[in-house]
Amino acid sequence: MLEQLEKSHQQALEALEKVQNEDDLLTWRADFLGKQSPVMSVFDNMRDLSKEERPVVGRRANEVRQALEAAFEARRDALKEQALQTALKTEKIDVTLPGRQHELGRLHPVTQTLRRIYRIFNEMGFQVYRSREVETDDYTFTYLNMPPHHPARDMWDTFYTNTEGIILRTHTSPGQVHAMRQYHPEPIRVILPGMCFRYEQVSSRSEMQFTQVEGLAVGKDITFGDLKGTLTDFARRLFDTDVRTRFRASHFPFTEPSAEMDVECFICHGEGCSVCKHTGWLEILGSGVVHPNVLRFGGYDPAEYTGFAFGMGPERLTMLLHQIDDIRNFWRNDLRFLEQF
Ligand SMILES: [Zn+2]
Repeated sequence: MLEQLEKSHQQALEALEKVQNEDDLLTWRADFLGKQSPVMSVFDNMRDLSKEERPVVGRRANEVRQALEAAFEARRDALKEQALQTALKTEKIDVTLPGRQHELGRLHPVTQTLRRIYRIFNEMGFQVYRSREVETDDYTFTYLNMPPHHPARDMWDTFYTNTEGIILRTHTSPGQVHAMRQYHPEPIRVILPGMCFRYEQVSSRSEMQFTQVEGLAVGKDITFGDLKGTLTDFARRLFDTDVRTRFRASHFPFTEPSAEMDVECFICHGEGCSVCKHTGWLEILGSGVVHPNVLRFGGYDPAEYTGFAFGMGPERLTMLLHQIDDIRNFWRNDLRFLEQF
């Protein structure tokens, strides 16, 4: 019986060597230390032994049991340690390291400019009107006094989609028609900000996507004087309270008459520098009195209603305000650039 006991001891130790996880370890304990196990059954079979053999076998059986229990504990500790090491290697969490600092984000420079523009026009009673970026050809051109095949359409290099008549808007102006159709015959005072898309060669001066802010006022007795007053006030609030402005005659298909507005160069104060190309003036927006055809498409009777509209590029304004020389910086996602604002 002693021989059998030693054999079971050996078998148990060999089996324990192969145990690699907690589940197998518990199975091993049931097999070698459980009630039915060879070692434990020795105690049950003691009565079959002679008086002399009994104490010898009993002592040895106890020793083996204790040895196996100790081996079990040792193996369990080893497995735990092994699991910890694996976790440390794969999860790489070192609780003794100082915590990672959260970097505070900030608004994109163009968003900051947009918000300045919103605030100024909101103070003057203009609401923000959001309009979709994917548009119909009609809203983008036809309703803005550019019927199909009108040569003015060539001013915009348009992105077309596979669906006929559906394009990416080239300017925020389609929103004017949406706003008019929604609000007529009520008076309107809105600004229309948003992303525009043009199929253009990307360079330091032009991007394929950029924001615009457009403005529209429609009502009775709105004149060109209202346009000049509103935009001059806007320039003073954006740049400087005593900045000088000037309007130059221009042409847009959707306004008549049309004008571009310049502000006195705020870098050289009119003396002439490289930013203003030595003219002393910076062009900041286009504007005009809403064309009767556009009013008509929007649901207003041009005999009764008039209006003015304007549009500007927040990227260009941001470039002027911060003297940025390359428009591509805005989409480069380069933190060295973005962190300056
Ligand atoms: Zn200048």
